[in-house]
Amino acid sequence: VSQVCVTQRIFPEAIELLQAENLSHSYHESDQALDSHDLNEAIKGCEGLICLITDKVDAVLMDQAPNLKVIANVAVGYDNIDVAAASERGIVVTNTPDVLTETTADLTFALLLAAARRIPEADTYMRSGQFKEFKLYQPQIGVDVFGKTLGIVGMGRIGTAVARRGALGFGMKVLYTANSSKPEAEKELGAKQVTFEELLKESDFISINTPSTPETHHLFTLKEFEQMKRSAFLINAARGPIVKEDDLAEALESGLIQGAGIDVFEREPLIDSKLAQLKKHVVVAPHIGSASVETRRNMSLMAAQNVISALKGQCPPNALNPEIWKDV
Ligand code: NAP
Repeated sequence: VSQVCVTQRIFPEAIELLQAENLSHSYHESDQALDSHDLNEAIKGCEGLICLITDKVDAVLMDQAPNLKVIANVAVGYDNIDVAAASERGIVVTNTPDVLTETTADLTFALLLAAARRIPEADTYMRSGQFKEFKLYQPQIGVDVFGKTLGIVGMGRIGTAVARRGALGFGMKVLYTANSSKPEAEKELGAKQVTFEELLKESDFISINTPSTPETHHLFTLKEFEQMKRSAFLINAARGPIVKEDDLAEALESGLIQGAGIDVFEREPLIDSKLAQLKKHVVVAPHIGSASVETRRNMSLMAAQNVISALKGQCPPNALNPEIWKDV
């Protein structure tokens, strides 16, 4: 029986860390997630679990491993894990905050720029040999980003990093919502906390940066798109279920809003999304928010370090439920 189960392929440096600590491990070195039966089998007897967001870690799975002490998600979002069920079982859950903040903010801004300036359309046009000469009314004529109003829904680590790019790099006016006010961002970036309705009404670009929770489920539906400017763009590099995807497609098709940059989908793995069929001012990406080599390596290492700490009897640095640790 291995002490640590690693459900999918992660960076080799993280596996080396486990080896250096002499932790035995079963490693499913594949980019394909295990199905629930195989995952149930894989974690039997283990004390530490390193998993990805495509692994659903619920009470039933946890009960397959009565010795389980720590679940380390290789992600900052942890909507794939039932943290309450873990707490009830004395299992500490960890995530990978901070290391992916700037990388995810870069991707968010890349989607914003690409949607506004219609980069994928321009790229397709070039590659299909359609570009012959400069035209004033270029087929890919876009809209300005500089100086516009950026609305951040969820002014946390990533939201603030997106806001910083907008305010300091692109002279944007920043509006935000969050559960609590952010005096530092207000001072540094001139950001203003507003109601969700005000943010919808006044923003030219809206970036979603909240976690996926019951409260944020379908935060954006037709009702919200109707309140947005017809010239507005929606950028979602947070989680798919925050946006009702069919409504977004309808809003784009009917011109309720102008464009979108979408990295995450309501149903992943993606079977078919109406969004992927829309082209004008719409950019889609396959959940690559944190996907830089450096960051995915750091996330892998962080997850391994969290498991190592827990199995050494220390509360792991990125515990989401540290309150249960004293009882272990
Ligand atoms: P974070 O620091 O916890 O920020 C989340 C923010 O959302 C907080 O400011 C929080 O407010 C706010 N919030 C929560 N519920 C809200 C609501 N109902 N309305 C408005 N604001 C609300 O988390 P983070 O590190 O920035 O990460 C954010 C999310 O991005 C993650 O949960 C993850 O799902 C997603 N993500 C996606 C990718 C990707 O690959 N596309 C990569 C990384 C992360 P308070 O500050 O007041 O609590």
